Formats: sequence, C-alpha cells, structure tokens
Amino acid sequence: MSSHLRTFLWLLVTSVTLATAHAADQEPKMISIAIHGGAGVIARSQLGEDGGLAYREALGAALDAGYAVLEAGGSSLDAVSTAVRALEDNPLFNAGKGAVLTHDGSAELDASIMDGATLAAGAVTGVRHVRHPIDLARRVMEDSPHVMLSGAGAEEFALQRGFTLVPNEYFITPTRKRQLERVLQGRRTPRNELDGLGTVGAVARDATGNLAAATSTGGMTNKRWGRIGDSPIIGAGTYANNASCAVSATGHGEYFIRSVVAYDICALVEYRGISLAEAAREVVQNKLRERGGEGGIIAVDAKGNIVLEFNSPGMFRGLRTSTGERLIAIYAD
Ligand code: ASP
Repeated sequence: MSSHLRTFLWLLVTSVTLATAHAADQEPKMISIAIHGGAGVIARSQLGEDGGLAYREALGAALDAGYAVLEAGGSSLDAVSTAVRALEDNPLFNAGKGAVLTHDGSAELDASIMDGATLAAGAVTGVRHVRHPIDLARRVMEDSPHVMLSGAGAEEFALQRGFTLVPNEYFITPTRKRQLERVLQGRRTPRNELDGLGTVGAVARDATGNLAAATSTGGMTNKRWGRIGDSPIIGAGTYANNASCAVSATGHGEYFIRSVVAYDICALVEYRGISLAEAAREVVQNKLRERGGEGGIIAVDAKGNIVLEFNSPGMFRGLRTSTGERLIAIYAD
C-alpha cells in the first residue's frame, strides 16, 4: 500500500470515528424519574368509586414536579427531592404530614437520600419536628461530616442549619389517629390495607447521567421503642450508584433491612451484569418473598431505564421519561 493511500485511509477512519463520537454527543440524553407512594394490600373498596383519584392526582403532581426539574436541566438530586417533598406535604401518604402514628400517638419520621455520582448519602431517623425530613437528610449529606443523624441530635442539627421546626401535631391527621386506634384495639395489623401504607420515594436520572434516590416515611403504625425501618438505611431502603442503579424501596422494613434490598439489586446489576429488570425481579419476587418480605421498589439504571417491581397486590407508583412515557398506577394490572 502506498504511503498516500495509507494516509488517506487513516484520515477517513479518523474522520468517521470523530463524526460518530460527535453524533453520540448530540444524542439527547434520556432523562427519567419514577416515584412511589407505598406498597401493600390496597383494597379497591378503600379507594372509593373513583379508583383513588386523589392518590393518582397527588402522584401525578409530584411526578411532574420532579420531571420539570430534569427537563429544565436540573440534577437528579433536585428532582428526587422535589418529588418527595411534594408527597411529604400530602396527608394521603405516610411521610411528612399524614405520617402513621407511633404507639404513643405521635409522628416519628425517617428519610434518606443518595447521590449516585459521588456515593454521598444523608439520612435522618426519628425526627418529630421537621416538616420535610428529606431536606434534612440532604443537608446531612451536603453540610455535615456524617451520613445518619437521629432524633434530638438530628433536630439540633436542623436548628443550627436554620430549619424552621413545627409542632408534632402538624403531622397528625384524624385518619391516622383512627388507624392507630384500630391497631391498638387489635382490629387491624400495622400494615393492614391502606392503614399502614404510604411511604414515599423517588429515583431519577438526569441529562448528565447522574442517578439519585430518595425515600421518606413515618414508618409503621404503632411502632415503639424508637423503631427504625429500612427507609433511612442506605443500602436497604435507598441506594444510588451511577455505575449500576438507583433504588427506593417500600414495604415491611424489617425484611428489607435484613435483605439489604436496594444495594442487593444494584450489586446484581454491577457484579453479574444482568439487567435492572432481572435484578429487581430476582430480589423482590424470589429472595424477599421467600423470606416473607412484602413490598416493592422503584429503580432506574445508568441508561435511564425504569423498573417498578412489587410482590404485594399494589404499589402507588408513577414514571415519566424523555421518550414520552408517563404512567400512574396502583395495582399490578
Ligand atoms: N418501609 C417502611 C418501614 O418499614 C414502611 C413502608 O414502606 O410501608 O418503615
């Protein structure tokens, strides 16, 4: 081959490679977000004739608020915080206002958040006066040397960081009081039907490819002795790593803690190289179910694919992506 021909071929190959790389850069990056509002037995009769319209509307509003952040070029962390904050404000869900009540009739809130880009994480447990526990979890992540703060210490930190504290009564609704009464009288179990449900969470992938996950809850009705569930535990209820996936869980926390559910799903994706859908199915439908754990997860992988997997009859959930997909659903069908 003459040197001219070689140079020509080299130039050709280089320019094709550069052109392809440029085209890839120009490809719109998939943005996606998923949210949940709790999983469990959701009796159709409890949702009323409109099929839970109020729940669907609240989920839709939180989903769209989170998606709008991504669409405006915002980070996945801001998107999940925005969606979770909206659900914390809605008394229908077991997070923030409308949280389920402890044995003593008060609200004790847990929340956590994780940044898939840096593996930074923040969590708070047993807080009683912070309107948006997810904001405090994020502040722990971004503005303290720690990952998890509990109870009075977490609230002292909140005060020092300028959070306005609210009385515990702010969180307590008549519905949750009635539900606690029924459990105390032995007429219901803590995770019976809608009574104990409504933990909220969000996962997202932003246009730069960063993943984030966030979860917030009041825990379980009639909880005692400072009981903490999976929601504020990094790896159990919440996990995010750009290399694999971001997960937010909801369900019977004791089982989710022992199965390290969120991390297990991401580890399967990373180590076994299987798809997020396969990993989530394996953990939620096989491992967790065999151990008696009931509930579900929402997750997003590095490419923005979303998976909503649950082994209970229903999970309040939603997803929205830049491919035009938008879904709000409650039951498996
Ligand atoms: N996982 C939460 C907890 O155990 C409850 C739930 O998701 O319904 O605290």
